[in-house]
Amino acid sequence: MTQEKYPKDRPVFRFAPSPNGRLHLGHAYSALLNQKLAREVNGVMLLRIEDTDLVRCTPVLEQRMLEDLNWLGFQWDDEARRQSDHLDVYQNAISRLQDMGLVYPAFMSRREIREFVECETSKGENWPCDPDGVPHYPNIDRYLARSERDARIASGEKFSLRLDMAAAVARIDIPLFWNEEGKGTQGQSGRIDADAMQWGDIVLSGKDYPASYHLASVVDDALCGVSHIVRGRDLFDATAVHRVLQNLLGYHTPIYFHHDLILDKDGNKLSKSRNDTSLAELRAAGASPQDIRQIIGLDDIQV
Ligand code: GLU
Repeated sequence: MTQEKYPKDRPVFRFAPSPNGRLHLGHAYSALLNQKLAREVNGVMLLRIEDTDLVRCTPVLEQRMLEDLNWLGFQWDDEARRQSDHLDVYQNAISRLQDMGLVYPAFMSRREIREFVECETSKGENWPCDPDGVPHYPNIDRYLARSERDARIASGEKFSLRLDMAAAVARIDIPLFWNEEGKGTQGQSGRIDADAMQWGDIVLSGKDYPASYHLASVVDDALCGVSHIVRGRDLFDATAVHRVLQNLLGYHTPIYFHHDLILDKDGNKLSKSRNDTSLAELRAAGASPQDIRQIIGLDDIQV
């Protein structure tokens, strides 16, 4: 189920920032690398605004993000796709997963999860964490009786919807993999086997976000016919989850290129909460778009 909106012979790339802070040098690198690679193959370059986190993403931050991108010289084809304008589409995908029996309401708050895991580990149990270091969701709600689930929901208890990953993986009886044209966290490239179980039961939607990043990005990449996903290496491991969702929902598999991350002088990943590498700050200090391209090593790109 892919919308054939662009000519078949044109690869489709996308840059997909979230307006939950100011863009930094890492975003500039990702955007301009996408643009460079798309141009090399006469590809279509799309911009997607990933704003399904209704608390952290704001229209003001979106406006600033667009200003930063325009200033930088990032050019995209077609209208930008704002995810919050398409919430019904993600809801529909979740309903399809629900119809497959792969989704359950998860009632534990972050604090309750933390306390539960602390209690287990204090007994000497090892508790699995996902590749981002977040503890897996406890096994309790997955096995609740339907009557109890319904009663708790009816009483107004808050919940998120999670994917039963073991059931999802069991339903897919072929080995899942993707083709990596960049490099993984351990330098892997080529055929990468997708190990989605390491993520546990991922969230599909929650109180403040009607669609999680994993779900919304997979749905949009499919609906927009994205053929080449070029993004930071910090999302390499998440690709395993994306492959599971793509398979369950009947979507094609894009080609992946996970690129180097721009690091600060201490070797840490840049963060939106720090200002010193934000494009706005660098611009205010007198940097030109050409200076930025030079700093990130993409000064050969034509704008
Ligand atoms: N919205 C994500 C971010 O800002 C990027 C997601 C992606 O490229 O798949 O980190």
